[in-house]
Amino acid sequence: MGKKITELQCSFCGRPKKELNVLISGINGHICGSCVQQAQKIMETDVHQPVDNSVSKINIMTPMSMKTHLDEYVIGQDEAKKKLSVAVYNHYKRIKYRAQNFKKDDVFIEKSNVMMIGDTGTGKTYLVRTIAKILQVPFCIVDATVFTEAGYVGEDVESILSRLLQASNYDVKKAETGIVYIDEIDKISRKGANPSITRDVNGEGVQQALLKLLEGSEVNVPPQGGRKHPEQKYITVNTENILFICGGAFDGIEPIIRSRLTTRPIGFTSSHDEFAISKDQNVLQYVNPKDLRNFGLIPELVGRIPVISYLNPLNKDALKKILTEPKNALVKQYQKLLQIDGIHITFEEDAIDLIVEKAIEYKLGARGLRTICEAVINDAMFELPSSKTKPYPLIITKEYAIDKLEKFHTQLAS
Ligand code: ADP
Repeated sequence: MGKKITELQCSFCGRPKKELNVLISGINGHICGSCVQQAQKIMETDVHQPVDNSVSKINIMTPMSMKTHLDEYVIGQDEAKKKLSVAVYNHYKRIKYRAQNFKKDDVFIEKSNVMMIGDTGTGKTYLVRTIAKILQVPFCIVDATVFTEAGYVGEDVESILSRLLQASNYDVKKAETGIVYIDEIDKISRKGANPSITRDVNGEGVQQALLKLLEGSEVNVPPQGGRKHPEQKYITVNTENILFICGGAFDGIEPIIRSRLTTRPIGFTSSHDEFAISKDQNVLQYVNPKDLRNFGLIPELVGRIPVISYLNPLNKDALKKILTEPKNALVKQYQKLLQIDGIHITFEEDAIDLIVEKAIEYKLGARGLRTICEAVINDAMFELPSSKTKPYPLIITKEYAIDKLEKFHTQLAS
């Protein structure tokens, strides 16, 4: 039997009649005024200029709602979340707009690649991965250190796009709307701020090679990655609509930023010129393109990455939240995993504190939380699924954790 409809509603957006000014009835359904208007817009654009399917499928959301989604997974890092949300929103808005208004407009909106600076393990990769997942666009992570200048041992930078092609099942149109995260971009900086006299095949050479990809051009990509060779067949990929997000720890950039901030222009003596940075402030928040150039990125590359953001180091409080709060927090993951075997596990607060303290003590950061948790509950995960008597619930106390971590401590110490 069909479901009884008690109240009329728009068959397209589902809003009930009482919320609408206009509701037009058809034979088997109804449509409201705003859906009529939307349909009209679609007719105006799509009929005359078919929108590329991969573009129209992208689930663009406003920066604010993107940030709200990110908040469910990523703890803190508000500044980076905001900058990324805006950059990603503008990027995909621009792609959709261009797809729909091809050649109708003479204002060319350039794309905005993004740079993220922050200690290792602070969530740079995780942020970008989460965004790509929310938007459901192809995504790949590449490590800048594996590339060398063409003609030398190592991979060609074009193989970055091979990975994006793989991530989109070799659907070129889909890959052309993806996101590439280039990790460890700081490791390809040139040695010193001046152009090198000798060849710098791993640094400056790779930066030069990246320019072509970042600015948007047609690139011949070896489908399986690696080195290009003459007999190979290539797939041509246009990087115009690919968003490149670069990240790195930029060890040693802080003194560069500090010295810029505290250098007073000659001739000025006013005390207002003195820039005071307190010890607990994250100096990275003041990073600018000049600092990146002084660190060793070539000006052309810096120029192609206009959005710069930073991440804060994770303190004890943040690590504790990471362990327990996000949608897929580690503690929740273990609970789910053991629940499948009928085991209910809870972590006492001081056990959680201990895990966090150990992550800090061993300088493992957020990435180490998992290793430590594994060490704590591995024995339980080994024994309990086959045990006839299951504890209910399995309570992880501080003493239990200390006992299990003793072996782990010896492992790390050796
Ligand atoms: P980075 O790229 O900065 O070196 P990652 O993004 O790879 O660091 O972080 C490592 C792991 O630590 C992530 O997979 C995630 O599980 C966790 N993590 C790091 N930072 C956060 C955060 N701010 N919120 C939630 N989880 C985080």
